[in-house]
Amino acid sequence: MQPLIDHARLAPQRQGGHPSGGAQAPAPQAMFIACSDARLVPTQLTGARPGELFELRTAGNVIPPHRIGRLTAEAATVEYAVNVLRITDMILCGHTQCGAVQARTRSQAPRTAPTMWLWLLQTHHWRRLHTPDADPGHQHLLAQADKLRRYPAVTRSLRAGRLRMHLWYYDLATATVSACQEDGAFVPL
Ligand SMILES: [Zn+2]
Repeated sequence: MQPLIDHARLAPQRQGGHPSGGAQAPAPQAMFIACSDARLVPTQLTGARPGELFELRTAGNVIPPHRIGRLTAEAATVEYAVNVLRITDMILCGHTQCGAVQARTRSQAPRTAPTMWLWLLQTHHWRRLHTPDADPGHQHLLAQADKLRRYPAVTRSLRAGRLRMHLWYYDLATATVSACQEDGAFVPL
C-alpha cells in the first residue's frame, strides 16, 4: 500500500501546471463500462487523458436489469452520463480470464462471496446467454449490452442517434481489443 500512498502524495509535483480537475477539464465524450479487474486499465488502453473518459466499473462488468422504481448505482451513473454529460459514445468492455464469467458456472454459492454469486446468477439466466458454441466471455458481454440498451436514457439516445454503443473485448494475454460487429462477430479493432 505504501507505494500507492507515496505516489499519491507526489501527484502535485508530477502534474506540475496541468492539474486533472477544475473547470478547464474537457467534458467527457465517452463512457467506459468495464469489469473492476485491476488488469484492465481503460485510460491506458485508450490513451484517454484526465477528463476524457467517464468510467463505470463493477465486478464482472455486470449491469443490473432496469426495473422502474428500483434504484441502483449503475442506473444512476448511466443516466448521469447520458442525460447530463451528454456522452456520445458508450464503450462496454469485457475481458478474457474474467473471474466473474468463470464463477457463474458454479452450481453453489461460495461461502465467502454469496452476493456476487447470486448477482451473477441473475445474469446467467439472462436471455441469449446460452448460445451454443459461443465464447462465454462474449456471451456475458452481449447479455450486459442487452440490459444496458433497456435503460430508458440509453434507449432514447440510441433511437435519436445521439449515442453510439461499442462492445469491446480485451484479451489480457495479447493486449488486443476486438469489437463486436453487427452480425455478432468479434473482429480486432
Ligand atoms: Zn472481469
